[in-house]
Amino acid sequence: MPELTSREIHLKNRPQGVPTVDDFELVETKVPEPSEGEVRVRNLWMSVDPYMRGRMYDRPSYVPPFQLDQPMDGGAVGVVESSAHPDFAEGDHILNHLGWREAFVSSDVGLTKVDPSLAPPQTYLGTLGMPGLTAWVGMLEIGGLGEGDHVFVSGAAGAVGSVACQIAKIQGCTVVASAGSDEKVAWLTDDVGVDTAYNYKTAGNLMGYLPTVARDGFDLYFDNVGGDHLEAALMHMKNFGRVVLCGMIDQYNATIPPKGPRSMIVAITKRLTLRGFIVSDHMTRYADFRKDMAGWIADGRVKSRETVYEGIEHAPEAFLGLFSGANVGKMLVKL
Ligand code: NDP
Repeated sequence: MPELTSREIHLKNRPQGVPTVDDFELVETKVPEPSEGEVRVRNLWMSVDPYMRGRMYDRPSYVPPFQLDQPMDGGAVGVVESSAHPDFAEGDHILNHLGWREAFVSSDVGLTKVDPSLAPPQTYLGTLGMPGLTAWVGMLEIGGLGEGDHVFVSGAAGAVGSVACQIAKIQGCTVVASAGSDEKVAWLTDDVGVDTAYNYKTAGNLMGYLPTVARDGFDLYFDNVGGDHLEAALMHMKNFGRVVLCGMIDQYNATIPPKGPRSMIVAITKRLTLRGFIVSDHMTRYADFRKDMAGWIADGRVKSRETVYEGIEHAPEAFLGLFSGANVGKMLVKL
């Protein structure tokens, strides 16, 4: 097979504040034949995720920054087009970290075969993948979710949040969910199955609103947003409540340091536990997670939804859409 042409997205500028499409560049490149020990993969789906915003800053973190004028990377699922590797055959579906590009040649580092008969390939970027694992680890292991808990999930209509809500319902919990549109609220109550959902953009003051939907407070808050959501949730935790600090998307584009929650003192008076985590520290739990999740998907207890942009040229828009709430469920790009 001759070398082929592929397109990839480079980071052109380190954005200040909310990124724009001008911070990205679509670049054409050649992908060679695989050498001994390598495979050539054509990506079918790529993921855009909020954590990628953090990688646009040039600063030390748990994951290295993107380099300017270099292809970006991230989760993707592709199919092997040509193989010179004994463990991979043409037609295998491969989960990989070389997203933001249509095709690539690589050795086996970071390549995992996935089974498309178990679930559509893109599910491995969502409910059966990193976001699903985040919800599972966050709820069950970091949050110590218990049967009958009163749970609050922010960012609830997204990839992580919608799975977190469903895990809590499977455990017999009462779930209050917040999201940023009436369409998302309807999906959360009608399909995801939460007990109460509300639109935080029209609910008014969250501190005043939460007691109207959860008079007795929460045992567990799963925070995807930070800011006002965290501040209000802290005030409405029960004594000895647990707060899972999963994400703070409210401040990923901040240009000045955000104000802290003014309600922190209640962490003392209510004897709260606040615990942050990063999913990549918990990859050893993947097999147990997958067993649970595949079962829940098969018996219909976990449903997923996707918002899909088509074509790599639209990947930057898909990414930006995470910050304007353009996605219901997992945001994906079909390549
Ligand atoms: P989502 O699918 O939830 O997409 C992001 C959503 O966040 C948007 O749809 C939007 O929904 C909401 N949002 C965006 N900006 C704001 C804002 N300023 N205030 C309130 N809501 C906002 O993304 P993921 O499910 O992939 O990620 C959810 C969270 O989990 C993120 O904070 C992410 O960083 C975190 N995360 C953490 C991991 C970890 O290891 N700790 C791993 C993976 C994700 P809406 O319309 O409701 O506003």
